[in-house]
Amino acid sequence: MQPSASRSRLVICISLLLVIVASLVLSAAMERTANTIRRNETPLLSVVIPQLRYLGEYESALLRYQLAYDKRYTESITPDRFQFLERMGRSELDSTLGQLRPSLGDGPELGVLRDGTMRIVAMAPQFERLMEANPGANAGSDPVRNLLVTMNDEVKALRTQIDAMQLRAQEALYDNGTLAGRSISSITTLIHIFDVLAVVTGLFLLYHVRARVRVEDQLKHLAGHDPLTGLPHRRAFEARLHQLAAQQEDAGHHAVVLGTIDRFSRIIGGFGHAFGDRVMVGLAARLRLAAERSGGQVFRLDGANFAILYRVGCDSVAFEQALAGLRDEVRNPYDCEGHEIFTTVSLGAASYPLHGQSPQALLRYADAALQAARKAGGDNLVTYGPELTAQTGERLDMEALLRHAIERDELELHYQPQQGLRDGCLVGFEALLRWRRMGQLISPADFIPLAEESGLIIPIGKWVIEEACRQAAAWRCQTGVAVQVAINISPRQFAAPDFLAHLEGVLAATGVEPASIELEITESVMLENAEPAIALLHRLRALGLKLAIDDFGTGYSSLQYLSRFPIHKLKIDQSFVRNMDTVSEQSTIVQATISLGHSLGLTVIAEGVETEQQRAMLAAWRCDEIQGYCYGRPQPAAMARSFIDHGLLQAA
Ligand code: C2E
Ligand code: MG
Ligand code: MG
Repeated sequence: MQPSASRSRLVICISLLLVIVASLVLSAAMERTANTIRRNETPLLSVVIPQLRYLGEYESALLRYQLAYDKRYTESITPDRFQFLERMGRSELDSTLGQLRPSLGDGPELGVLRDGTMRIVAMAPQFERLMEANPGANAGSDPVRNLLVTMNDEVKALRTQIDAMQLRAQEALYDNGTLAGRSISSITTLIHIFDVLAVVTGLFLLYHVRARVRVEDQLKHLAGHDPLTGLPHRRAFEARLHQLAAQQEDAGHHAVVLGTIDRFSRIIGGFGHAFGDRVMVGLAARLRLAAERSGGQVFRLDGANFAILYRVGCDSVAFEQALAGLRDEVRNPYDCEGHEIFTTVSLGAASYPLHGQSPQALLRYADAALQAARKAGGDNLVTYGPELTAQTGERLDMEALLRHAIERDELELHYQPQQGLRDGCLVGFEALLRWRRMGQLISPADFIPLAEESGLIIPIGKWVIEEACRQAAAWRCQTGVAVQVAINISPRQFAAPDFLAHLEGVLAATGVEPASIELEITESVMLENAEPAIALLHRLRALGLKLAIDDFGTGYSSLQYLSRFPIHKLKIDQSFVRNMDTVSEQSTIVQATISLGHSLGLTVIAEGVETEQQRAMLAAWRCDEIQGYCYGRPQPAAMARSFIDHGLLQAA
């Protein structure tokens, strides 16, 4: 696991733990505060508040009682009315004292009130007697006034007591309120701390979850996309194809296009894999842009192979326009690190429902069309037709037959002579493979690519080396002259781990002189993996073998590399030779190649020389050797033997 990931997990755990602890602490603190408030609130409700209320009522009853006396004294009420008020007041005082009892208890405080009340109430009979003794002249009489003063003093004393008791009750209320306020503010502080903690943890979790969702999205994207180009990959393509098939009714017409960038391995061979990757990224972006412009979706299958899905049929104008746009986009020269790269694409298309219904059938047909496009030389669009399936079937049959060609002794070598231009003598032969099947000779151009693709080139190549060396040794025996034989080595053969060991074995077994064996290698073979290839070339040269570069000029040759290869010969490709007498650029290329070869100390041979005129031009440009129909066609060993004799005679 990444250290940063484990660190963030630890932080999450710690913050969640902190939030849990904080919430526990908070609820414990709240519980405690609630208990304290509850504890203080109970006596408040049952004692202090009733006390305050009934003390107030008692005091009011006392004042009303006293007022009745005052009214009677000033004779503003009748004696009957006074008696009535006095009775009422007494009972009021009694009942309020009774109400005060639960909150005050039977303690001294209630005793003081009760005693004072009794003393006041006890004055009533005496007051009435005095008032009745002097009816109408009581106001200002001393005994009555004295009695009222005594009563006033008693009432004042009682009110002082009541005030003191009320004050105590109010203080208790205040204390309780202060305590509750303090508890609540400490709880509020705790809640604030908890809030901050929860918000911080929440934000952190949010950040982490977002980061995780982003990573999951990226992983999901990677699971369905090619990491180099960012295009959806083969599995995504197959899934999409099946999805389209599942909703056939709604899907309507759609076209499956398979494409391959032509000769992409040459770019890799010439500039290396990293460069090839960069070109591939650029090409993928262009393909995507061009396809999406016309509603298509591009997938990278592997290597230089792509698939494109269009929501239109192959037979529509829209499809034709889309594909034309796509091919133009690929054809545009591509500037990568100062190199101008030219690419083309081969495309094979099949469409639903015109050519097939199932994804498997569409794929098979699009592939057959692609193979046809490649076979036609690339830079081509082929739309599937039934005749292609027959070709594909043929190809599979051919592969199966080729597998048995060696054991059935169906392979043979033909030898094409090569001529030295200085003296006109035979220099040697190029061994060219033929497959004789049911009396017919099949050209290597028709089966070597198939052998390359299927890997059959390894056993076939071994057979060619063995046969060519055996023939060279036989001619040496027969004629006494070491005739040089050139053998074509395919890229896959050259890269095989046992290539060198097998060759050494054959040289030893046949006893052929290594100097009379020339290996023809194409430029891409050497540049694909330059350093190991150079090392292998040195070892081959150390064995005494000759080395030639075949089809020179058709690959991405780097002159810098060329000077480092321990080779003897350049074979100018026949495509330059073919048109050199008519196209001036071709003749310039041929002349330049001859002088390049010479400046590197190499022998230069031109192949595909068909006319006397071409031979003369090459001789004039000091080309060393030629090979072509004008000197001799590829022929079976027996016929080549007579050619040797003739060639030797010429030399002699
Ligand atoms: P290549 O090595 O460039 O061989 C030259 C080809 O040009 C031969 O075709 C030869 O028959 C043809 N040719 C020679 N002179 C002329 C001419 O004047 N005019 C024309 N138009 N063609 C001429 P071929 O034999 O069909 O071989 C084709 C290719 O197949 C060869 O090209 C070589 O790349 C490959 N090949 C042939 N034999 C072998 C083999 O044993 N092993 C491997 N790996 N490849 C082979
Ligand atoms: Mg050759
Ligand atoms: Mg060639």
